[in-house]
Amino acid sequence: MSLRPVVLTGILFAFLLLGGTAGFIVYQGNLQKRADEVQMIYKDLFDFRSTLTLIDQQLSLAPDRPEVLQEIIQNIKLLQFRSVNFQSRAGKNRMPELASWMKSRQLVLEKLLTDIDMKKGIAGNNIPLMILELDDVILQAAIDVRLANNRVHDVVQLFFFIVFAVLMVIIISAGWLIVNNYRQTVMPLNQLAEKLRMLNEELPESFHDTAEEVKKNIRRKEFSSDVNQITDSIVRFCQNIELKNKKLDELFIKDEKTDLYNYRHFKDHLIVDVARAKRFNEKVSITMIDIDRFKAYNDANGHVAGDIVLEKMAGIIREECRDADIPARFGGEEFAVLFPRTDGVEATEIVERLRNIIGVEPFYHEKELPGGQLTISAGVATYPDDAVDWYSLINNADKALYRAKQTGRNKVVHFRDLEEKGEKSTGNRQ
Ligand code: GH3
Ligand code: MG
Ligand code: MG
Repeated sequence: MSLRPVVLTGILFAFLLLGGTAGFIVYQGNLQKRADEVQMIYKDLFDFRSTLTLIDQQLSLAPDRPEVLQEIIQNIKLLQFRSVNFQSRAGKNRMPELASWMKSRQLVLEKLLTDIDMKKGIAGNNIPLMILELDDVILQAAIDVRLANNRVHDVVQLFFFIVFAVLMVIIISAGWLIVNNYRQTVMPLNQLAEKLRMLNEELPESFHDTAEEVKKNIRRKEFSSDVNQITDSIVRFCQNIELKNKKLDELFIKDEKTDLYNYRHFKDHLIVDVARAKRFNEKVSITMIDIDRFKAYNDANGHVAGDIVLEKMAGIIREECRDADIPARFGGEEFAVLFPRTDGVEATEIVERLRNIIGVEPFYHEKELPGGQLTISAGVATYPDDAVDWYSLINNADKALYRAKQTGRNKVVHFRDLEEKGEKSTGNRQ
């Protein structure tokens, strides 16, 4: 998982938490304010009740004394004022029973005031009944106080529960992220690091196999894209090295000008094939081929034209060889071909066919040569018939070639023909 969505989710969560907390503070503040208001109403109702009780006492004790009556009137007016005040506060704090009671009892107070004013008898006033009713109202207010406080308490509890739940979600998500990060990134990175350490310590035999192994072992669907990118890079790196190694291998065994094998590769194969022939009683033949009078061709046409001839002849030699044969450039204008599991007769046939093909093949400006055509001479030798080891095999094929040159060129001579003529001990050609 990449870091971007994780960070974005974190920021979103932080904003949600911040917004939620701000909303909670405002909401809880309002609830607390209402609870305080209801509490105040509850307390004020006791004052209201004491004033009402005082009026009741004054009315029953000394209703005829004018100064007491004046006090009663003042107290009733005070209660009227407070009643209006209660109605508005009860309306704001959702206490409909209190509001309607205060409203209805305002008429009673009004009537009492009128009765006192008109000096009517006040014996039948409703004050004791009002006190009894007010006790009920106070009880209801006490319940409202309790409910308002409970609501504040409940909201605080709910808030802390939500905060706890969010924290749990964050902790679980963080844990999940850490575990996933370990499984998808840290663990495979460790594997890759170990692989690279091993690659560093000891270069593998095959980079292709290493690339396959890395792909198989490390590139898995559940790994993070970053790890997969690194894995892909390592796989590509191994594949590139493999390609470069192949090119290096080619350079190591091929002759640049003719694209035939070089002498080193020819010799390595010859040693192995002679050893195998010795062990399994097989035959190995080789031929040494030399272009006739090539110096004259070069002198007449230049070395660039000579190189084109070399390339063309190399192509023909390669074409005429079998898959198992090793055609090589021996050096200069000389070629050598290794024929594994081939006796002298078969090898001579192949080289003879080759000589004929080259003889009739048209080459640039060959008509101007003394012979009118470019030809080759070749010597063939076979192990174990003509040599005891790979080195004497080359030497004897070379002797046969020398013989071909000596006897007129454009011909193939097998070393056994020299033996028959008792020329086996003739030295190398000059
Ligand atoms: P012979 O029939 O006796 O082999 O005569 P020759 O002229 O072919 O033999 P010589 O050894 O006198 O000359 C070999 C020539 O091959 C000399 C050199 O210019 C030419 N040669 C060798 N290597 C190359 C090469 O890579 N490119 C070109 N163009 N010529 C080469
Ligand atoms: Mg030569
Ligand atoms: Mg030559």
